[in-house]
Amino acid sequence: MKRQVYLDYSATTPVKEEVLEKMIPYFTQSFGNPSSLYTIGQNSKQAIAEAREQVAALIGADSKEIYFTSSGTEADNWAVIEAAEARKNKGNHIITSKIEHHALLHSAEYLEKRGFDVTYIGVDDKGFIDLDELEAAITDKTILISIMYANNEVGTIEPVSEIAAIAKKHGVLFHTDAVQALGNVPIDVHAIGADMMSVSAHKIYGPKGVGALYIRKSLALPSHIHGGGQENKKRAGTENLAGIVGFGAAAELAATNLDGHIEKVTALRNYFIDRVCKEIPDVYVNGDILRRLPGNANITFEYIEGEALLLLMDLDGVAVSTGSACSSASLTPSHVLTALGIPAEIIHGSLRFTIGDFTTKDDLDYTVEHLIKNVEKLRRISSVSKEKGWQAYGVV
Ligand SMILES: *Cc1c(COP(=O)(O)O)cnc(C)c1O
Repeated sequence: MKRQVYLDYSATTPVKEEVLEKMIPYFTQSFGNPSSLYTIGQNSKQAIAEAREQVAALIGADSKEIYFTSSGTEADNWAVIEAAEARKNKGNHIITSKIEHHALLHSAEYLEKRGFDVTYIGVDDKGFIDLDELEAAITDKTILISIMYANNEVGTIEPVSEIAAIAKKHGVLFHTDAVQALGNVPIDVHAIGADMMSVSAHKIYGPKGVGALYIRKSLALPSHIHGGGQENKKRAGTENLAGIVGFGAAAELAATNLDGHIEKVTALRNYFIDRVCKEIPDVYVNGDILRRLPGNANITFEYIEGEALLLLMDLDGVAVSTGSACSSASLTPSHVLTALGIPAEIIHGSLRFTIGDFTTKDDLDYTVEHLIKNVEKLRRISSVSKEKGWQAYGVV
């Protein structure tokens, strides 16, 4: 069988065996509705309570501040839409950034249609939010700031504590999308001072279809799904029992092994970047080299089409992505790389490699070998590469 190398851990991760084992009984024997009063219902309720503790522990929250949702996307929608609607008599201005996930950007666009004004803060060439621009954008109408903890395309880790302090100083709520940071960065939501934080299970070796929103204890965020009294009457609908149990188990594993995970994945990522930069001409790394997610290597290969390279790598069994999973089916250049000031033609030659717990050095050696071969092949057949490639080598 052809070798398979998965290097797209920022798109999703496989469910770890230990996590799956904990989930299975909740589909079959222990299937009781957590709202039922008899024993198997109460057992389910207990399992959800335990998962809530586990997810809370991973971000330094109190379990009462964790509300399970169907996804990170739902958590983002709930946070910004309901926080904005609840405060519209105070003001109608929201601040976010140009590099947010679409779960946030499209929620902001929705709010614009509902009469809110949104300012999209820019970033520098490494992907860092401009804190001066952020503070200068605050007006007496500003009610909410939402800036992601770490970017999913280039891996840049934002100064969220500084952003939270600016928000607090001006009496503005602060939400952060921590879906990529979770399990990859030590998080202490109370120390940061965020009012709301979104997380998701399937980026940390848990199941797809379950996320959570942290809501600071004293914050009265309105419910956005109406029905039964689940999730402390804030998020109705019979709970995704097995999914929530899986999220809890994945969170506990991540917490136990956080330092080891960061160390191992960072070392592999650096090894990969070093080899690519040494062995393939005309490449560069996008984003910041130090303050970035452990597993992220976003690399531009000049004079080639990223999609073509992605497809050739796929033929060799290597799964990588161009930009984010969500925009890779479209031909518009990544909004994140555009915000970093990278020209469109160069963005098209960029690929995102994301390394995770199951990646081996062997996988990366195999990937580098095939990158060398496929980049060479594409540059040979591309007229742009020949002409500009010669110049790049100084042989005019
Ligand atoms: C994956 C991701 C989301 C969406 O989470 P889902 O659980 O897949 O809906 C939101 N924000 C960021 C930064 C992500 O990487």
